[in-house]
Amino acid sequence: MKFVIATGNEGKVREFKRMLEPMGYEAVSMKELGLSLDVEETGETFAENARLKAGAACQAAGLPAIADDSGLCVDALGGAPGVYSARYSGLGDDENNQKLLQELAGVPDGERTARYVCAICCCFPDGTCLTAEESCEGKIGYELSGRQGFGYDPLFYVDGRSFGQYSDEEKDAISHRGKALRLFCERLKERQSEKA
Ligand code: IMP
Repeated sequence: MKFVIATGNEGKVREFKRMLEPMGYEAVSMKELGLSLDVEETGETFAENARLKAGAACQAAGLPAIADDSGLCVDALGGAPGVYSARYSGLGDDENNQKLLQELAGVPDGERTARYVCAICCCFPDGTCLTAEESCEGKIGYELSGRQGFGYDPLFYVDGRSFGQYSDEEKDAISHRGKALRLFCERLKERQSEKA
């Protein structure tokens, strides 16, 4: 089955492709189809935003479309930046990370707990959708570390290392997106066997 990945975020596209392709699914980006995704993320939850993006991409591409809405929820900040993770500073990833460090200045180690959350929604051309949501617990460090991954990865620490220091395989095995995608694939298989 061929899916379009409903995002313009190259980091997400890479992660979806490298996880879906070994499972036997074909994945193309909006960019590869010559399409762009211009959806206002007006939802109050990750799941609502994922649904908005997947619906729009499915309509534009005429293919099953997988969207992920994801973000970082920091306990000491009441769950922020949450659904606003991409837009936290109004600038790019570097500025988002700097803002996060500033907001957490003086917050002790034991109170720097956080989680990444990923909601996946796949909309099919027949109007049906499949969803899956997962999270990954970690801690916000005091400094950026590592060059792997994207977004907040250099500040998101699990077991003493930042996701910026994790290999692709290590991150996919425990990340919010890896877990949500595996759950999604289980549900997709159930759907396919029900239809067969
Ligand atoms: P979205 O495209 O609106 O879902 O925004 C997701 C934002 O959350 C990204 O731009 C990153 O800032 C952050 N984010 C989500 N998943 C990850 C991840 O796996 N690593 C680092 N940052 C992430």
